[in-house]
Amino acid sequence: VVTTRASALYDELRARGGKLTPARRAVLDVLSAATTHLTADQLLDRVHDATPDIHRATVYRTVVFLSDLGIVEHTHLGHGPAVYHLADDLHHHLVCEVCGDIVEAPVAILRNLDRRLKDDYGFEMRPLHFAIVGRCRRCSAG
Ligand SMILES: [Zn+2]
Ligand SMILES: [Zn+2]
Ligand SMILES: [Zn+2]
Repeated sequence: VVTTRASALYDELRARGGKLTPARRAVLDVLSAATTHLTADQLLDRVHDATPDIHRATVYRTVVFLSDLGIVEHTHLGHGPAVYHLADDLHHHLVCEVCGDIVEAPVAILRNLDRRLKDDYGFEMRPLHFAIVGRCRRCSAG
């Protein structure tokens, strides 16, 4: 079953000059169906489970390729391995350093800071690359 989201991604891939190979399709399908954040290893496992004939090395190269095209993004939630996302669903990650809870927040929440850093420092921030670390509502209370 090809979801609307997946088929929009196939179109995006073609629009950016990439061919829809079986490996690219498999990676996009797994990422568009995922409901949690996947590390590279988890992503490789899922693609490999769904399409065992695609070599893990090929899957890995495909993730790098899709990242270079800007269709796949990764983010660092903490000390562990990076997790992978589709670029059509960008959001900030508020990670609690006490309980490890992850809350997703809209990109727009840092708009004022983004503008100030650009105006005052000529600095273009990329806050989606790392999580925003702190204490969640529960852990900061009391
Ligand atoms: Zn990184
Ligand atoms: Zn996320
Ligand atoms: Zn917490």
